[in-house]
Amino acid sequence: MKICRYCGGVIRLVPASSIYGESAERLGMSEEWLYQCQNCNARVGCHKGTKRPLGNVANEVLRLKRMETHQIFDGFWKKKGMSRTKAYRWLAEQMGLPETMAHIGGFEMEQCQQLIELCRKEKRERSSA
Ligand SMILES: [Zn+2]
Repeated sequence: MKICRYCGGVIRLVPASSIYGESAERLGMSEEWLYQCQNCNARVGCHKGTKRPLGNVANEVLRLKRMETHQIFDGFWKKKGMSRTKAYRWLAEQMGLPETMAHIGGFEMEQCQQLIELCRKEKRERSSA
């Protein structure tokens, strides 16, 4: 991943602090890395403690979608009393992904939507049972 899929700009590996500044520490990201387009600012995080990207770089629209999906998913499994590990296993299974790919930070638009709908559906089924 060297060239941005949106604008063809150059993608560089940068420390999180270069994007989040001093709040990187507060976000617990001071040791983390991101891939960032030097032209349009599309970006994606890495697997914790590594320089392996979670997925493809995201523009602002996709970044917001990933954040929204994360909030919905986290709310979903916490409410169900699942552990994080169990929640991600459920996600991988439901979406037919290997667990190494089951990271919302690397999802595309359709995958975000798919997960949101899975959470909604599961919630409905359980509450009507
Ligand atoms: Zn770009």
